[in-house]
Amino acid sequence: RNILAILGFSSIMAVIALLAVGLTQNKQLPENVKYGIVLDAGSSHTSLYIYKWPAEKENDTGVVHQIEECKVKGPGISKYVQKINDIGIYLSECMEKAKEVIPESQHQETPVYLGATAGMRLLRMQSEQLADRVLGVVTKSLSSYPFDFQGARIITGQEEGAYGWITVNYLLGKFTQKSSWLDLISYESKDEGTFGALDLGGASTQITFVPQNKIPETSDNYLEFRLYGKNYSVYTHSFLCYGKDQALWQKLAKDIQVANNGILKDPCFHSGYERIVNVSDLYKTPCTKKFEMTLPFQQFEIQGTGDYQLCQQSILGLFNTSYCPYSQCAFNGIFLPPLEGNFGAFSAFYFVMNFLNLTSEELSQENVIEMVGNFCSRPWEEVKASFVGVKEKYLSEYCFSGTYILSLLLQGYHFTADSWKHIQFLGKIQGSDAGWTLGYMLNLTNMIPAEKPISLPLPHS
Ligand code: AMP
Repeated sequence: RNILAILGFSSIMAVIALLAVGLTQNKQLPENVKYGIVLDAGSSHTSLYIYKWPAEKENDTGVVHQIEECKVKGPGISKYVQKINDIGIYLSECMEKAKEVIPESQHQETPVYLGATAGMRLLRMQSEQLADRVLGVVTKSLSSYPFDFQGARIITGQEEGAYGWITVNYLLGKFTQKSSWLDLISYESKDEGTFGALDLGGASTQITFVPQNKIPETSDNYLEFRLYGKNYSVYTHSFLCYGKDQALWQKLAKDIQVANNGILKDPCFHSGYERIVNVSDLYKTPCTKKFEMTLPFQQFEIQGTGDYQLCQQSILGLFNTSYCPYSQCAFNGIFLPPLEGNFGAFSAFYFVMNFLNLTSEELSQENVIEMVGNFCSRPWEEVKASFVGVKEKYLSEYCFSGTYILSLLLQGYHFTADSWKHIQFLGKIQGSDAGWTLGYMLNLTNMIPAEKPISLPLPHS
């Protein structure tokens, strides 16, 4: 009986031991992941992005993805010149969010970058001192968090274009994946070419792509990259003052020159729409300098007439096509090589086209023109009633923005009915926002190797 009891006891113990081993083996090992934070300090707003990736795979393509976007409440940082002490509170909500989303144990090794774009480029043109002061306060505020703060700076237009291009191609998987020994002996090339990147902000717009002709006419617009074992000669240009908000200021400053009664009949706004504009606001930005004149009033009223054709005519007046020192130009004498391949159009290109329901690849350029035309001709009261809940500032400007996007792409960059089919309007790609921030972080954390990582065949054993 005793032996039986001992056997019974030991078998129970054995089962418990086995269960314990099983449990510990099944218990998930701590995830070996890393995080990174990038703040996009745009002209009209700031967004904080959190990225996550498996630590052991950081040199593979397509492994980094966005897990959070936090939109900072309020305007862009360049608007804080007069209330510099509010910057700390302004950034705090999203930084606190980052503290919640990222596990505390990882805070210290999580890099934080802030890149400011064209809004701050414009402020710097007005006053380097003021721009430095804003960045100084931003730096002080971001340094107070438990993360690994790596700096706040104004990125160049070329960087903005190039990092947007890297983001899009990284997320679309266009940088060739790891090669295997099979690839090395295979004759077939898997390279389908990269996507060009079209980015529209409030203050600037960027076009970036790999042109066919490898001999550039000017070195100004070219960047050379070696990524995953391939060389890329990338054309990029950033048009300052041609983001959609600054383009609208330019258009108003140009058109008010000939409206001397203080009323501006404007075809880019819906009929029945009215807005009062302060002349001092109009001339505040360096983008309207070339149209500035002494006006006999301090305010004027925009009165919408809702006419796509006339709106386009007015917008085309912002593109100077009278001179070009190269074989081909976009506008204002800026070199633009022939367009090549597919393009991803994001940020405000996407926001506007998505609102207007024009992102479907089925739509031809003619369809899109017709639909923007129809939208512009709708009376303001009707538009307002159809889109309750849409921010009035955005809603009132979709006619202008849609017409501006068409003018920029068709007349500015020379997209045709045929090449229009190669433009895809993209918000997110695989869950991550298209924009310069991911490419910026990939570059600064050395996550895009120049050479292709080679995966060896698995050993037989
Ligand atoms: P930035 O702040 O320079 O990155 O520019 C973003 C641009 O997109 C600004 O012109 C904003 O007004 C615009 N924008 C952002 N969200 C929307 C939206 N939902 N609809 C229309 N425009 C938008």
